[in-house]
Amino acid sequence: MKPVKLAIVGVGKIVYDQHVPAITHNPGYELVATASRNHSIPGVPSYASIDDMFAARPDIEAVSLCMPPQYRYKAAHAALSAGKHVFLEKPPGATLSEVESLKSLAASRGLTLFASWHSRHAPAVQTLKSHLAKDAPKEMTVIWKEDVRHWHPGQEWIWEAGGLGVFDPGINALSIVTEILPWDIFLRSATLEFPANRHSPIAANLHFENAAGIKVNAEFDWRQTGEQTWDILVKTGNSSVRLSKGGSTLQIDGAACALPEEGEYPSLYRHFRDLIAAGASDVDLSPLRHVADAFMLGKRLVTDPFIE
Ligand code: NAP
Repeated sequence: MKPVKLAIVGVGKIVYDQHVPAITHNPGYELVATASRNHSIPGVPSYASIDDMFAARPDIEAVSLCMPPQYRYKAAHAALSAGKHVFLEKPPGATLSEVESLKSLAASRGLTLFASWHSRHAPAVQTLKSHLAKDAPKEMTVIWKEDVRHWHPGQEWIWEAGGLGVFDPGINALSIVTEILPWDIFLRSATLEFPANRHSPIAANLHFENAAGIKVNAEFDWRQTGEQTWDILVKTGNSSVRLSKGGSTLQIDGAACALPEEGEYPSLYRHFRDLIAAGASDVDLSPLRHVADAFMLGKRLVTDPFIE
């Protein structure tokens, strides 16, 4: 099959770190252009806006949209309207409704829309999912604690409305939880801590259950210095399981599991290519829905101002 002519919109940290290496090592793609106001990729033609790019390069077949979520809908609508397949970075948008609207637009045009969740492609996730399908979870605890100053230096959008605050990493944990659990969960109570000078939370405590009352508790915190924690602990009927390092390691009853070496973004781009070839879309909004529920149901506490 011929490579898909792909463009990237919104060039920044994740594009340089992950998208460019994953795309350039995949023969299923040809990276033909970027559209970004201030950034570019060496050797790739760059344009200041998505409209300028589509006017200059009508041969573009697909776009990856990697700007902050508050600004993604307009670009996605323009791309689908211009007949391009669309890869959405996570979270897929600023609201559930705008992504539903994109889903309908993609379906009506016969185009692929992929709401990507990179953490679902971490090496341990499918192994853990298979384990839990055979040995059902009785209790789950998610601990996702990291240092915002280290991972998001100078990023103002994460603190603005729609930037999700600590749910920007926390939604990665929820994308794994919703992938591995054999049943649906829903939020019962939550507490969100907002710095006095910011519009988005710096910490959250979430208590979910399933219909049978099995509990999933999650702690997200952006104030963790020193060792960083991205763990999911599960007690099942017969085993004790620890997924750690965001899904790159897995222990069952203390024994390390052998895992595939596959990276998250190479796997995402293979899936996007398969979706395009199959004429299909993949838009699962469950991680974003749980975050929306947390903003709707969660108690709001005001905490110390956040100074960068
Ligand atoms: P970023 O570097 O702060 O932003 C990406 C680029 O978006 C910026 O360089 C900027 O490019 C463009 N942009 C910023 N504000 C914009 C606006 N108002 N309108 C249009 N474009 C704007 O962010 P990032 O860390 O790459 O994250 C981008 C997305 O990827 C987020 O949804 C994030 O959750 C997700 N993600 C990030 C990571 C990570 O480790 N950073 C990991 C996985 C997923 P120009 O100034 O050139 O327009």
